[in-house]
Amino acid sequence: MAALLKARRALGVAVGCTTRRLSQLAELPEIHQMLRQTCRDYADRELAPVAAQLDRNHSYPAKQVQELGALGVMAVEVPESLGGAGLDYLAYSLAVEELSRGCASTGVIVSVNNSLYLGPILKFGTEEQKEQWIPPFTTGEKVGCFALSEPGNGSDAGAASTLAQQDGEEWVLNGTKAWITNSWDASATVVFATTDRSLKHKGISAFLVPMPHPGLSLGKKEDKLGIRASSTANLILEDCRIPLGNMLGQRGMGFKIAMQTLDSGRIGIAAQALGIAQAALDCAADYAHKRTAFGAPIGKMQAIQFKLADMAVALESARLLTWKAALLRDAKKPFSKEAAMAKLAASEAATFISHQAIQVLGGMGFVTDMPAERHYRDARITEIYEGTSEIQRLVIASHVLKEYQP
Ligand SMILES: Cc1cc2nc3c(=O)[nH]c(=O)nc-3n(C[C@H](O)[C@H](O)[C@H](O)COP(=O)(O)OP(=O)(O)OC[C@H]3O[C@@H](n4cnc5c(N)ncnc54)[C@H](O)[C@@H]3O)c2cc1C
Repeated sequence: MAALLKARRALGVAVGCTTRRLSQLAELPEIHQMLRQTCRDYADRELAPVAAQLDRNHSYPAKQVQELGALGVMAVEVPESLGGAGLDYLAYSLAVEELSRGCASTGVIVSVNNSLYLGPILKFGTEEQKEQWIPPFTTGEKVGCFALSEPGNGSDAGAASTLAQQDGEEWVLNGTKAWITNSWDASATVVFATTDRSLKHKGISAFLVPMPHPGLSLGKKEDKLGIRASSTANLILEDCRIPLGNMLGQRGMGFKIAMQTLDSGRIGIAAQALGIAQAALDCAADYAHKRTAFGAPIGKMQAIQFKLADMAVALESARLLTWKAALLRDAKKPFSKEAAMAKLAASEAATFISHQAIQVLGGMGFVTDMPAERHYRDARITEIYEGTSEIQRLVIASHVLKEYQP
């Protein structure tokens, strides 16, 4: 009898937890609702009105990044003791979505600082490394970057050729990292380099490098199709010396650190894609009410209604997948498959929705007077960085095949 009661109690707790978590997919907890509203208001007030100008001039939104630091959004998951907001990944994904709805470039600046720079230090750093490399990057004064890709290998990250050699009490780094987000504005980077090329991905280690630093230089700022207010450039390492203590994690752990970091990062990029998609849908639905053709608002036409319906379904299903991936991560459950699904669904939804939005707007969709063309350009990158759509499919398929292993 006692055993039965114990089992029922345990089941009750488990059911209670699951129900609570599932219900978050339908209605967010109060603190998340507040954060979402705060970020939405900020994006409406401070980002959306200047997004086109930032995009046109390729300008880094320094003032906004500092203000977002003050709101706690530059370090959502970092504990308060290290200067962060001490919230969870669901909160982080909501913040990135709302900010990206106002300005997708700001969305990726926030996402890279949170997931790709602070994330691996929080998870794999020593206490001393956390104290040194995290607090200055929580306030928006400084941002970090993540240097994994190389000119010769993006998807095949295990083939890194940047070399790290030990020389006395220092590591000496040599090589080129490609397309590094935030690089022109960053004050530190996590760099992946191999200490032994013959070991392939098992020879890769992660290093913390301050910026600027002797031996580290930047290539030209890339002129991009979208997210033009975030900087992207090569990071060139020529006899770049750092102390031995700047290795993050153990020697040879770099590939694991990179892959685990990207699992989480993909939730951030899914959220960025949701924000872009939502902005495109907002724009199309609003226009459908206002534009008349053949004597009636175009929103009365079935062809336009079908487009809006398909856009809304794509968006909402991708959002639920993104929240599910974040909730699994917050519950410390495996989330790698769901993060890949979320990124794939959200980025393809953003591409589809922004494409359809231009069609709904007709000629006005094609000119820069309206934001639809920017959303269309911004959406495209979400299918490329932090793993292309093809790579997400490979990740998902490997999980599916494992699940059906005879
Ligand atoms: C704006 C921007 C910002 C970026 N920011 C960063 C950053 O901050 N840090 C960083 O480290 N990197 C960054 N990247 C790099 C980005 O992650 C890579 O571009 C991406 O991973 C793809 O790598 P690649 O360009 O080398 O393409 P490739 O790997 O050469 O792929 C080319 C094509 O082949 C496909 N392909 C490759 N392998 C396979 C396979 N096994 N099966 C099926 N298809 C395959 C790809 O999906 C793609 O369609 C950024 C890139 C851009 C454009």
